[in-house]
Amino acid sequence: MEILGVIGNPISHSLSPKMHNAAFHAVRKQGIYIPLLVDENQLEQAINGAKALGFTGLNVTVPFKEKVIPYVTDLSEEAKAVRSVNTILFTQDAIIGHSTDGPGFEQAAKIELGLDFSGSNILLIGAGGAARGIANQLLKHDCTLYITNRTYSRAQKLVSDLVKNQGYEISIIKFAQNRLEQIIAAVDVIINTTSVGMKETIDQTPIPADLLHEKQTVIDIIYNPKESLLLKTAKEKGCRIQNGVGMLVWQAVKSWEFWWGVTPPSDVMYQAVKASLP
Ligand code: NAP
Repeated sequence: MEILGVIGNPISHSLSPKMHNAAFHAVRKQGIYIPLLVDENQLEQAINGAKALGFTGLNVTVPFKEKVIPYVTDLSEEAKAVRSVNTILFTQDAIIGHSTDGPGFEQAAKIELGLDFSGSNILLIGAGGAARGIANQLLKHDCTLYITNRTYSRAQKLVSDLVKNQGYEISIIKFAQNRLEQIIAAVDVIINTTSVGMKETIDQTPIPADLLHEKQTVIDIIYNPKESLLLKTAKEKGCRIQNGVGMLVWQAVKSWEFWWGVTPPSDVMYQAVKASLP
């Protein structure tokens, strides 16, 4: 029996158990995947405890994707580049941290929109954990990337980490009107990785959305609500749109590939997520 779980705080909202358990059921794999609420002060004990209990691996979610790094023994190249871990594999001698957020994001855009980021001008909004993985993935392509974030210093840190690791060129745009407005109107793809559009900011967009136009693709990695105000406005303007369900599913698919080298049924995982969303 494979035992897996997702560690985070809070965790009860996570759709990962539904997705992974549906996939186990579909392929008749003996496995169970559980949500695990962890106190930050006990993160190290939680990880070592899961290993001691014979877990195959873990997923890691907010707020622990960076905080688990000191407690793994090895990092994949991807996790090293983005300084973030969302998937852990326990082996006899090692605790290996990996990140599937960026590859999952790209796969979702490819599958759902047929999008190839090569040659695109892209505005990435946000500089948190999700933005790190996505920026690193985008820069594997020959694209022009602009990054904007409410907290400028966080965008600077993200860019300096990526440039230091891989020698990329990226522009940071201040979260202020003029230049940002020019960029919004000029780019091919806009990606929101901030939480603006969820919960108490459900009636807000992270950038002025009236500048969007029909030649653009707008991706919001928020999946609850299924259509954020940014996506609603973009749709009204004639843009192609995509929400965060695909990224959620494909990062999970890529976790399976990391744990077992096996691709789970993504259609079953999509269904499990969609059935759980209002
Ligand atoms: P995070 O590390 O906490 O980063 C949050 C980002 O949102 C930061 O850039 C932050 O800017 C910005 N932000 C928050 N409130 C804001 C506001 N009122 N105005 C402007 N900017 C604001 O979180 P994360 O892990 O990157 O996750 C971000 C979002 O992505 C969440 O909505 C999460 O649900 C979603 N997500 C989806 C998937 C998926 O699979 N679909 C995967 C991961 C994350 P500052 O730096 O200025 O604070």
